Order: sequence, then C-alpha cells, then structure tokens
Amino acid sequence: MDLKYYSNPAGDQTRQPRREGMFKNFDATELFCQKCKQAVPVRKRLLIVLPDGDKYEYLCAYCASSVGTKIERNQKPLTIIV
Ligand SMILES: [Zn+2]
Repeated sequence: MDLKYYSNPAGDQTRQPRREGMFKNFDATELFCQKCKQAVPVRKRLLIVLPDGDKYEYLCAYCASSVGTKIERNQKPLTIIV
C-alpha cells in the first residue's frame, strides 16, 4: 500500500499550477460598500501577518471605508500521515 503513495509523485506536480492560479483571487476586487450602497472596487491592505496566514482588509476605493477582511492562509504542503 505504501508503495502506491511513493509511485505517485505526479500527484504533487499537478498541484503546482494551482499555486499560480492563486492569482485569480484578485478577481474578487469588487465588494459591496454599505456607505456607497453599491458594489465598489476595493483596495487590499495588509493588516497583520499571522502565523497561519496574512490578514487583509478591503477598503472601498471611493470612500475608503472598510468593506471586509480576509485571511489568506499560508499554503502548507499537505502532510500525509503514514
Ligand atoms: Zn464606499
């Protein structure tokens, strides 16, 4: 059974293109602003760096009010428990 995992390194390689796909997260650049009462383009600001990820705050591009926060967790390699 264990040999099956070892003989499947290609499974990890297929994950690498996905990391580049992380940039697609920037598509979420419009959020609803309660002050502007509409979906607005936002600016992303790094709030704090946490051990398990970075916390960002999204600011309305028009009135600069906070429209949301998001924690982008660090990508940890999957640990396979043997
Ligand atoms: Zn606004």
